[in-house]
Amino acid sequence: MNNKDILLVPGPTPVVDEIYDALSNETRAHTDTRFVEIFKNAIKQTKELLKTDGEVFIVAGSGTLAMEMAIVNTVGRGEKLLVISHGYFGDRFTPLAKSFGVEVEVLQAEWGKQVDVTLIEEKLSTGNYKAVTITHADTSTGVISNLEELVPIIKRAGALIILDGVVATAAIDENMTKEYGHPDYKIDIVLTGSQKAIGVPPGLAIIAFNQTALDARRQLGTVPAYYCDIENWIPIMNDPSKYFATPPVNMIYAYNEALKIILNEGIENRQVRHISYGKAIRSALRTYGMTPLANEEVAAPTLSCLVYPEGVDDVHFRGKLAQRGIIVAGALAHLAGKAFRLGHMGNTTPEMLEKAISEIGEVLQELGMSVSIETAIEVLKEELAQYVK
Ligand SMILES: *Cc1c(COP(=O)(O)O)cnc(C)c1O
Repeated sequence: MNNKDILLVPGPTPVVDEIYDALSNETRAHTDTRFVEIFKNAIKQTKELLKTDGEVFIVAGSGTLAMEMAIVNTVGRGEKLLVISHGYFGDRFTPLAKSFGVEVEVLQAEWGKQVDVTLIEEKLSTGNYKAVTITHADTSTGVISNLEELVPIIKRAGALIILDGVVATAAIDENMTKEYGHPDYKIDIVLTGSQKAIGVPPGLAIIAFNQTALDARRQLGTVPAYYCDIENWIPIMNDPSKYFATPPVNMIYAYNEALKIILNEGIENRQVRHISYGKAIRSALRTYGMTPLANEEVAAPTLSCLVYPEGVDDVHFRGKLAQRGIIVAGALAHLAGKAFRLGHMGNTTPEMLEKAISEIGEVLQELGMSVSIETAIEVLKEELAQYVK
């Protein structure tokens, strides 16, 4: 790989050479059949990835735009939205939906924990929610949502399910035709961005609507959006030679290549690989006295938030690591300075994880801590060997 640094922030993630090569292909007119064929293929592969028979939308933007598309096209002014929040990105739905006049109620978990299911059931029984947002994995806390538990109770209450997969899609199971205990209990919308587990540079908002979600859009009539209105995009996604707004041609080359890599690896293999990465990296870092914020039962396969042992200065630690070419992220909100976040997703390799564990160990030693790099690497490799074929 040509990258100089190992990018282990929770997005963007390491970009492999094939994707850079795709990105640097000649920019063609968006109406050129050579591009149109690639765009069609990207749409087809996105449907395969999410196993949806609905519509997918691939537009220039970031994950937040996809969040906005989900809300604007399903929940009208004065209608009610329930936000299930496991951290900073769950919370983002609240101001977002409020800015369109949606009435929002939020259930917030203590950071590092999941929202109690009985609280969600109680809340749903009190009223008439048009939709519920679930953040599949919250990038601030490293907490995953339990779809097996959540999908049935939300569908029983008759609400649409909007799943934020920005740090999950292509790494954690998101199957839109999967029936969660009843033929009607399915995820209605999955939204994501290009730069996390998909492994493309930032720049694409990707979102899928099933038939129920598409019906919800139609029932709204008009929506307070133009670029975000899926009605403007449906004709283009059905025939990419048509024009609404210029598609990001080179980003779509790159995304198409990423989908090829994902589908070649196999969606299930990829899920298993990510589970092993999460377990391995957290086990290894525990030997350094670092504590994952989320308990292992609720910890995300794609990223971890790790609380520092006593005496480690955040800025100093991350600065020293960066000098060694390992880039990790600070923690958000009240955890800033007390923890750091490490992404282990997309096209990240076991070798990169090993290098990170070794460099983190050396930095901790430089900071005067006594840690065994050998032990940490052993633990990492043992865990990886259990899962990775
Ligand atoms: C990164 C992220 C977002 C925001 O995506 P942007 O591309 O930064 O707009 C939303 N939700 C989750 C879970 C994320 O990890």
